[in-house]
Order: sequence, then structure tokens, then C-alpha cells
Amino acid sequence: MARFIFITGGVVSSLGKGLASAALGALLQARGYTVRLRKLDPYLNVDPGTMSPFEHGEVFVTDDGAETDLDLGHYERFTGVAARATDSISSGRVYSTVLEKERRGDYLGKTIQVIPHVTNEIKDFIRIGEDEVDFMLCEIGGTVGDIEGLPFFEAIRQFSQDKPRGQCIFMHLTLLPWIAASGELKTKPTQHSVKELRSIGIAPDVLVCRSERPIPQKEREKLALFCNVRPDSVIAAMDLKSIYEAPLAYHREGLDQAVLDAFQISPAPKPDLQVWEDVADRIHNPEGEVRVAIVGKYTQLEDAYKSIAEALTHGGMANRVKVRVDWVDAELFEREDAAPHLEGFHAILVPGGFGERGTEGKIKAAEFARTHKIPYLGICLGMQMAVIEAARNVAGLSNAGSQEFDHEAGKDRFEPVIFHLKEWIKDNQKIARDVLDDKGGTMRLGAYNATLTDGSKVADVYGRTAIEERHRHRYEVDIKYRDKLEKEGLCFSGMSPDGRLPEIVEWSDHPWFIGVQFHPELKSKPFAPHPLFADFVRAAVDTSRLV
Ligand code: GLN
Repeated sequence: MARFIFITGGVVSSLGKGLASAALGALLQARGYTVRLRKLDPYLNVDPGTMSPFEHGEVFVTDDGAETDLDLGHYERFTGVAARATDSISSGRVYSTVLEKERRGDYLGKTIQVIPHVTNEIKDFIRIGEDEVDFMLCEIGGTVGDIEGLPFFEAIRQFSQDKPRGQCIFMHLTLLPWIAASGELKTKPTQHSVKELRSIGIAPDVLVCRSERPIPQKEREKLALFCNVRPDSVIAAMDLKSIYEAPLAYHREGLDQAVLDAFQISPAPKPDLQVWEDVADRIHNPEGEVRVAIVGKYTQLEDAYKSIAEALTHGGMANRVKVRVDWVDAELFEREDAAPHLEGFHAILVPGGFGERGTEGKIKAAEFARTHKIPYLGICLGMQMAVIEAARNVAGLSNAGSQEFDHEAGKDRFEPVIFHLKEWIKDNQKIARDVLDDKGGTMRLGAYNATLTDGSKVADVYGRTAIEERHRHRYEVDIKYRDKLEKEGLCFSGMSPDGRLPEIVEWSDHPWFIGVQFHPELKSKPFAPHPLFADFVRAAVDTSRLV
């Protein structure tokens, strides 16, 4: 049966709780344990699927088709454990399940209350798959004291009482502000945060303190005394140059040891940190630099493309180069020529996105990459825009467009090379969707197989012809246009196994121009860079050598 580690936060948000959880997961793995990480989010959205990327950053999609919090991406990148739908829950999901049960009469006429009905629902969620791993790490979103978070804190408190002693521990992340005037790290906010936690019945076993500077012994002892933890369990988390240093940095600070001590696991198995040493070496000692432009819509908020930025870093690590990313607003090219903005980049990436805004600019970026022979990776919408560009500018379909845009007015005016898919096959079953379905949950979501054409560039990149990648989209390239486009050199080199849905396109006479309908970035890891990103960066390195 799993041991449970509950990770909470206090003082301020954005302290890197997700990263600390992910790094701890990696360290436990390095000691030979199996782990699973979970996120419990207090917000009322049922899932982040319908939230704007500006609100919540990227939506991370799991193999089994759940739209989840971007922290699950960190978990996967650090542990390599594929996240599942059952690794992410929100208050919205909890309440909607409780209310459904109430309507069905499952509670036999009882009064439905936060305690025990909502807390029971949360506890049932935490328990899912508890026999499968050695450690289950559950991160609670937000900070202690948030009104929305209370049922979650209450649930984990109860949970630790339901379990035998010693099976659950609590790790609390706080901030030690540095006051320059007095030259001191202040412990008071942490003391208050722990007090708040203890007032709801949770005593932390491990304190992780974000601070700009090392914590002097005196402050460490003070924190231990006032927060009722052992001095060895006060762990400093200092700013790092790269998130991928976190496992080694936390290990040096004694985080994994403190956690194992809290569980009274002795002697603790020795860690093997070679993978992370290699990762850190590749990050710190690049042998060159390439410049990549990401032409997108949500460029003000980098978290909107979190996994893409990380996958590019991994691609850089595979080639031992630093990847310098510039975020370019696609809308710029709707007013101005793309060339001055894109010259000088060694590769161009057009990411996924929704809605019409910025799409004409993305089409211009695809055209620039095609005609200037710059490596281009189009992801989801970035692939669709590359296909529209090819149809308009090469195949002579000047009205080519997507049914996603200007749906009404354009119906009979344009050639819908990108069409709204309403029926498809998953696991031998037909799935049908109506255009008028709710916004949430109407997409082709999660892992689907694709078959690659023997001898194509992608087959070469992957080193095989059967792949499985994660999807999140409503629209598809219409196979009706395949012959016309292939005749011009845009090969449909990856198809769904039934041959109906184009998954990958590539220009045969271009050094590196690939569009994929799926999201390869979601499966890339620092210790196992995704082949498409590794080869895309390799192609960028080649371009950089030409100039
Ligand atoms: N908006 C497009 C679609 O729904 C692309 C989605 C995406 O890029 N994730 O098909």
C-alpha cells in the first residue's frame, strides 16, 4: 500500500510547489521507489479545458484524454510516469459528482454537506490506485487559508487519520522574504502560515522554504522551534538557473532524506542520480546556441506554451546546444511583412491554438519558412495553417480556409481544407459529436495511433512507422485535398490507422518542414527528448552553420 505525501503551500502562490513535488517524485524514483503524482485544485471549473491560456497557462492532455493542470506536465517531465485522468481533480469536478449523486438519490435522502460528503469524494479520489505505487504525492493547489481550498485541507487531514500512523506525511512550502534594509531572512510569514495549517489540524513534517539566500543555522533553528519540525526537515529552496537542477539541488538540501526520515524508513536506499547529473551537465555546458521563433497568439504568457518551451530545451539538450526562444506575436504579420521579424532565426515553430485571431499571421510564418527553407515545426493549428498555406500558395486553391473561422459567412465562399470532424474511431468504437455540443469535451482528445509512410522524413526521425501521440483539437485536414497537395510535394506522411485522418504532413523538397496534428511536446522529457524536437533542433543547428 502506498505511503502518501501531501504537499501544501503558504504565504504566497507561485512558489514552485509543482516543481518541488515533481523533483521529490524524481528523487524517490532515484532511490528505487515507484511514484505517482496528483494535483487537487480548489477552483470551481470542472477541468482547465475551457479556461483561457491567459488564465491558467497550458492545458496538459493525458493519454486517456483528460484536460488537466499544467503541473501534471512537470510531474511527467520529471518522473516519466504518464499522467492519467485520475491524477487531477478540481472543486468543480468534486461538487458536480456530489450533485449528480444527490440527484440520482445515492445519498438516500440525507442532508448533503461539505463534511462528510464533499470530503469523502476527495478522499475516494486520493485513494484511486493506492496499491499500485510505493509513494503517492498529492499537491493541493492554492495556499493555506484560501476559502475554496478548505475542503481539500480537511479531506487530507481526515485521510491521514483514516490511515495507520506513519503512512501519511505533510510537506509545506513557504517563502522566507529577504529584507535588504536589515539584511535578514524573515521567518514570521512562514510561522503564520504553519499556524494557519495547524489550526485546521495539519502539522507539517517537512518545511520547504523558498529563499533568495541560504538559510543561516540560526533561522533554521528558529523555524524548527516555532513551526514544530526538526531542523533537518527545514529545506531551503533557492532560485535555480534551470528547473532541471531541482532534483539535485533538493537532494543536496536533504529533501528526500527528510521525507524518508519522516516515514521512519531506515536505512534509506541509496539514490542513483546519474540521469539528473547528465541532464544538469547538458544544460550547463552547451556547445552552441540556436535561435527559434515561436509564432503564436498567447506570447505574453509563456506558461501558455509551457510544454513546447520545455520540449525545445530537451531538443537542445539532445544536441548539446542552448535553444534561445523568441516569442513572436502572429498578429504582427497581418499588418507587416513577416521577413524582417523572422530573418535571423534558425527555425520557426507555430504552436497550437484556437480561434481565428492571428491565424493569417501564422500562415505567413509557414510561407516564410517554406520559401526560405528554414526548419518549420507546425503543431496542431500550426500544421493546419501550413496546409492552408500550401493549398493557397502552391496548389492554387486561393480560397483555402478552415471551418473553424468565419463559419457562417464563409460556408460557400472558401475551400474548407480544414474541416470540423464530427465522427471518428477510437479503440474500435465510433465517436460522434454534434457542432452544438458544449464547448467542454467535444474534441478529439488523448492518445491516438498513427502510421507513418516508410521512407518519409518523419519515419526516419522516429525510427519507426507506428507511433502514438496525444491530441486536442476539433478540426482536421480534409483528405479530399490529399492528391492535389501531394502532387505539389506536400506529403501526407502520417495517417490515422484507418487512413482517414491526416496526422503528419511534410514538404519533400524542404530541409525540414513538418506539421503534426498532435502535440509531441506533451511527451518530451529532459532525459528522453522527443525525437521530433531533437531533430528539429538538429536541423536548426544545421541552419545556424549555413549563416
Ligand atoms: N483550433 C484547432 C482545432 O480545434 C487546433 C487546436 C490546437 O491547436 N490544439 O482543430
